[in-house]
Amino acid sequence: MGEQVGSTGLVLVGGGLANCLIAYRILSRRPDYPLVVVERGPRLGGNHTWSFHDSDLDDDQREWLAPLLAHRWASHELRFPARRVTIEGGYSSVSSARLHEVVAPALGSRLRLGAACAAIAPERVVLADGQSIEARAVIDGRGDPGGAHLDLGYQKFLGLFVRLREPHRLAAPILMDATVEQVDGYRFVYTLPLSATEALIEDTYYADQPGLDRAALRTAIADYATRRGWEIGEVAGEESGVLPIVLGGDIDAFWADGPPGVARSGMRGAFFHPTTGYSLPEAVRLADEIASLPELESPSLFELTRRRSLELWRRTGYYRLLNRMLFRAAVPELRYRIFERFYGLSPGLIRRFYAGRLKWTDKIRVLTGRPPVPVLRALRCIVESRDRAGTTTRRNEDAQ
Ligand SMILES: Cc1cc2nc3c(=O)[nH]c(=O)nc-3n(C[C@H](O)[C@H](O)[C@H](O)COP(=O)(O)OP(=O)(O)OC[C@H]3O[C@@H](n4cnc5c(N)ncnc54)[C@H](O)[C@@H]3O)c2cc1C
Repeated sequence: MGEQVGSTGLVLVGGGLANCLIAYRILSRRPDYPLVVVERGPRLGGNHTWSFHDSDLDDDQREWLAPLLAHRWASHELRFPARRVTIEGGYSSVSSARLHEVVAPALGSRLRLGAACAAIAPERVVLADGQSIEARAVIDGRGDPGGAHLDLGYQKFLGLFVRLREPHRLAAPILMDATVEQVDGYRFVYTLPLSATEALIEDTYYADQPGLDRAALRTAIADYATRRGWEIGEVAGEESGVLPIVLGGDIDAFWADGPPGVARSGMRGAFFHPTTGYSLPEAVRLADEIASLPELESPSLFELTRRRSLELWRRTGYYRLLNRMLFRAAVPELRYRIFERFYGLSPGLIRRFYAGRLKWTDKIRVLTGRPPVPVLRALRCIVESRDRAGTTTRRNEDAQ
């Protein structure tokens, strides 16, 4: 039996995006709230750049998130072999460095870094060194649990933070440049201009398999920069990810797996967009709801997070259908055509798609017209399986 180091109101296990937002939001309303964030790494937030569209959030949410923003742009671009689109509307990034800079001081002594959690129960957390913390509520935000119970494709990428010898002359981010060679599924390059001469350039694939050939991706990014006429002076950093793109699965089994009765946040609770694997907007919404509760106690928090996750799953069945068409009906090297066609639709529909708020008329619009995939193969995608058909064990750089 290890040493008990104290008791508190709330323990947030994992100091990643979702739990940092929950802690930040609670403390902005109740600065003295008794909580502890337990993070195994040396800093909050790991090594990520989290981006989102203005239209993913409401005005209040954008306002409270503003101190965490590292970059903001007024529009973004998409490039395909037969289409080039500029979409007006704010696009912003939160960096893990900024998240740490803002949230760590707000937490002060309530932050335990370098503290891996070994066991989690609804009212108790045991650390790897044997110390334990009692709490009225515990939230498991340890990040992506891997592919168990979900049928997945992957959005995988490696990005380089580069300093260029000359300005890149980009006015706005390019979220997808799919004019590159189409290999390993749908491939595009994502570029965020961070200053006149700095950029984050990510080589990205919607692929069937999760493996990342890092050396090949670094070379591909260097080649892309050369093609754009950019001379890389220095590579200042790197980030990578393998995000889940959900084709189907068993959300009840997903929730049955893990510490019983413990509330979950972020990827651990399946709070992410099925077609992008992005979790920031859902994390903001969950933080808002949790911070508005008068009492934080494990039984009700568990019920709340589980119910929200099941509701999100039910609401996003249509996205999983589109994912199955992308991964199962389209020939991998021709998957880009689905996105090329999609970006010919109205900007309003595109915004609602990423915000997870498609209207029923949008849903019909997305699927009508000359389909970019063979009709028979598309029809076979209509039924959603609860099995993990074709899934392999996932390797995510950021999951244990
Ligand atoms: C490189 C990258 C870029 C991404 N870009 C975007 C984006 O632009 N927009 C977007 O919305 N989404 C993006 N995502 C997807 C998703 O939003 C992120 O993965 C997000 O960080 C998930 O948040 P989370 O809080 O669930 O998990 P994480 O942020 O991964 O946090 C989990 C934390 O738990 C800690 N932890 C794990 N186990 C333990 C333990 N036993 N004890 C203590 N601590 C533990 C980990 O160290 C980690 O800090 C990106 C993902 C990656 C990998």
